[in-house]
Amino acid sequence: MISATDELAATGLLPPKEVMALESAGFRTIGDMLDHLPKRHEDRRIFDAFPNQPAPGAVCLRGTVVDTSRRRFGGGGLFEAVVMDNTGGVFGSGKITCRWFNIAFIHKLVASGQELVVYGRVRDLNGRLVIEHPEFEVLRPDEGGGGSIHLDRMVPVYRNVPGIAQRRLREIIHLLLHRCDPSSLTAPFDVDPSMPRARSVCEAHFPDEASAADAARRRFALEEFFAIQINVVWRRACHHGKPGRVLGKRAALLTEFYQSLPFDLTNAQKRSIREIVADMRQPVPMNRLLQGDVGAGKTFVAMAAMLMAVDSGCQAALMAPTQILAEQHFLTFRRWLKALPVRIALRTGNRGETSHHELAGPPQIVIGTHALLYDEKLFEDLGLVVIDEQHKFGVSQRSRLINRGVVPDVLVMTATPIPRTLTMTVYGDLDVSLLDEKPPGRGKVVTALREGAKQKDVTKFVKDQLAAGHQAYLVYPLVEESESLKVESATEAYGKWRKRLGGYQVGLMHGRLAPEEKEEVMRRFREGEIHALVATTVIEVGVDVPNATVMILHHAERFGLAQLHQLRGRIGRGGEKGYCILLTDGGNPEAMDKLRVLEKTGDGFEIAENDLRLRGPGNVLGTRQSGLNDLRFSDFLADTALLREARALAERALEEDPQLDGKHRGLRVLLQEQEADWRTH
Ligand code: ADP
Ligand code: MG
Repeated sequence: MISATDELAATGLLPPKEVMALESAGFRTIGDMLDHLPKRHEDRRIFDAFPNQPAPGAVCLRGTVVDTSRRRFGGGGLFEAVVMDNTGGVFGSGKITCRWFNIAFIHKLVASGQELVVYGRVRDLNGRLVIEHPEFEVLRPDEGGGGSIHLDRMVPVYRNVPGIAQRRLREIIHLLLHRCDPSSLTAPFDVDPSMPRARSVCEAHFPDEASAADAARRRFALEEFFAIQINVVWRRACHHGKPGRVLGKRAALLTEFYQSLPFDLTNAQKRSIREIVADMRQPVPMNRLLQGDVGAGKTFVAMAAMLMAVDSGCQAALMAPTQILAEQHFLTFRRWLKALPVRIALRTGNRGETSHHELAGPPQIVIGTHALLYDEKLFEDLGLVVIDEQHKFGVSQRSRLINRGVVPDVLVMTATPIPRTLTMTVYGDLDVSLLDEKPPGRGKVVTALREGAKQKDVTKFVKDQLAAGHQAYLVYPLVEESESLKVESATEAYGKWRKRLGGYQVGLMHGRLAPEEKEEVMRRFREGEIHALVATTVIEVGVDVPNATVMILHHAERFGLAQLHQLRGRIGRGGEKGYCILLTDGGNPEAMDKLRVLEKTGDGFEIAENDLRLRGPGNVLGTRQSGLNDLRFSDFLADTALLREARALAERALEEDPQLDGKHRGLRVLLQEQEADWRTH
């Protein structure tokens, strides 16, 4: 018997040429091969009837080739095979044409008299029913009956492996499966003791019924989710296991702050602050996520929490993902806390401690970029860390925080509304407060998609808005002109807009400017000296200029949905109506559908759900550190029940073996592998 960990070559079961092909496709061990699950199964016991009209879904047909033809042109050509229903075609037309373009050797594979299984979508081509580029298999003359793995049963169909034909791949996996010692097909944790794992592996490949394959896939999805959840639960336990401080016994500053506000906090803000304060009063370090759409008012919640920390006699820090945002937070804090006796400092990589000298004593509130994380001295007296726009930091930075003696309370703020299931995975170690209500008196933002709009009209619109005293963002996807892409860049557009908007001040903002230049541009825009700002996505998060009511997004199809939503969040921040115009040259219908989502809804969660569906979790979160890019079963991500099950299993495992050094030792190894994987990416 071979073991799942054996190298393919060592088994001697496969010819060297095949081993080489498999190895260059990334399969080294038996286990790697058995992990290559089918992309689908075909029920080759009952085939579909030959259709007599086009159909939207794919069909799986069995028939005999009665005619072939080949036309050559250019470097390639067209090959057609007419396939006839052997059973007589009682219901259907009984005939279908399979067409292949530009496949040099296809005529050597398909010939009259052969029996084929074809799979694909049937189209109507001038009255003929055709399938273009079907997946197909040539059956052997004697095939069928009980013994075959290719016919008269549920048959796995795999993603192609270069150099190995589909039938051969199926044979190899079948062979390895039957020679493999079942006891070697284990996982670090058995998520379903009611069903031996080896059996799930078999059924994922060669099930008797489709339902058995589904059940097996679900098991593997559960395993995959479990691997994430054990990590999350472990990190949570690490955080909570550390000694923390008890903060929030006094609230003098906080009370003063409330009294100084010219408006009431929203109910959601009040609720979140209550949740945060309750956490801060515990001797266990807080580890909380504040989730709220753009403009929901996260900053005041952070401010309240930080004042609580200062009230308790320690420092509080706010970390922003970029220098611009750190700078802006600093100004916001200074403005709103002007009347309060708190010392606030801005500290960023470039500025060192420049703003210190004004302070009569050490700062109580420090605002900076994530460079603060590496400031050991700061952490000596730190009671609370607020991390703004968390996904830009990632899990590994967060874990830096907890690898300390006394762990500060941590509040993570994100404006990226993500679906509930993703929250449970990416932020699963955090408790969640939700700002699900926007402050009153916000202007509505109208979003409009314009395909192939005339520049003249766009310019006029912007000019009218500027004439009314508003400001505008003119957003471009790139900084510089790219040769390969015919996309206008921000720098290029800047020159043009200056001409178009003669009489108004136009600014340029992009990521390659020096930090001081960025600050200067932002300052001038904030103060209304610059009327229209040509910019790249550096303005994506947090930039807050309430008088800016117009955003023109050029080449909108090149941005992600969530990103567009973030960008759009820059306008409609004051009381005035905002306009977000998505410009595109049109084309790709999928891209247009994507953009239309933004016309329809301003709800960040709804947009996030769409984004997840369109782009997959790894891309949505934009970081490998989420550990989600490699998910093989991400189609189960919408399955909240399965995620909860994984969470419960992970919690139970940790209860049974809190240090993971006893019966679940294997999980410790898994955690170490995950950490190593994050560090290297
Ligand atoms: P977020 O960071 O969640 O996107 P901000 O904290 O920047 O949102 O708040 C957006 C705007 O709303 C700011 O101009 C802020 O002053 C204002 N704001 C926040 N809370 C309230 C409130 N309760 N009432 C009125 N305006 C508010
Ligand atoms: Mg913000």
